[in-house]
Amino acid sequence: MKIILLGAPGAGKGTQSKFITEQYGIPQISTGDILRKAVREGTEIGKMAKSYMDQGKLVPDDVIIEIMKARLNEPDCSKGYILDGFPRTLKQAEKLESIAQIDVVINIEVSTESLLERLTGRRSCPKCGAVYHIKFNPPPEDGKCKCGGELYQRDDDREETVRKRLETYRTQTEPLIEYYSSKNLLKSVDGNKTPTEVFQEKF
Ligand code: ADP
Ligand code: AMP
Repeated sequence: MKIILLGAPGAGKGTQSKFITEQYGIPQISTGDILRKAVREGTEIGKMAKSYMDQGKLVPDDVIIEIMKARLNEPDCSKGYILDGFPRTLKQAEKLESIAQIDVVINIEVSTESLLERLTGRRSCPKCGAVYHIKFNPPPEDGKCKCGGELYQRDDDREETVRKRLETYRTQTEPLIEYYSSKNLLKSVDGNKTPTEVFQEKF
């Protein structure tokens, strides 16, 4: 099964991906996670990507497409995968068509006020990739992941950058809803409910 999760930053793509991975045993491929790893490791791609990420802009299509061509060729992708954060432009979507045949695109719909609150309250674990929220999904111990990692706030989850990312989403990624709808691949889910309810409704 090859699934695309569409939705604005903060819609819950990462959160739902973890549930799907657990239930169906297919990997979550997050371009954001791949880029953040490259930034942490200080690679050439990481250095270049950081300047775009810090401004809430998209990393250029050609770079992302090269990364994904390689990643989707790895053995763990043979039975399918969940794409979280890719494609994000029409060009990426068109390119993906020549690489893979997608079974379904799930669009997670969440109101703009909730997106702001979700992103500014998000806390992430650098060690295991777990995602928490200070109010909606607090960690067992303040500032600490269940794996023991020190939780941090992503640089781009600060309010000014969040606003820019939401604008980038509206202009560059939202047109994909129409694109996949016209291909009869799109299913929408009300993402304003609890994570478990969202999962039960669609997956
Ligand atoms: P995305 O991957 O789409 O950017 P995340 O899955 O990282 O979004 O979720 C963004 C933030 O919102 C996180 O802090 C997460 O814990 C929280 N969150 C996710 N789904 C829900 C939900 N259904 N209700 C409330 N908060 C949620
Ligand atoms: P995310 O973790 O999905 O919120 O992505 C964080 C940031 O990484 C985005 O704001 C972009 O700068 C960059 N990014 C992630 N995925 C893509 C993509 N498919 N195309 C371009 N930029 C991306």
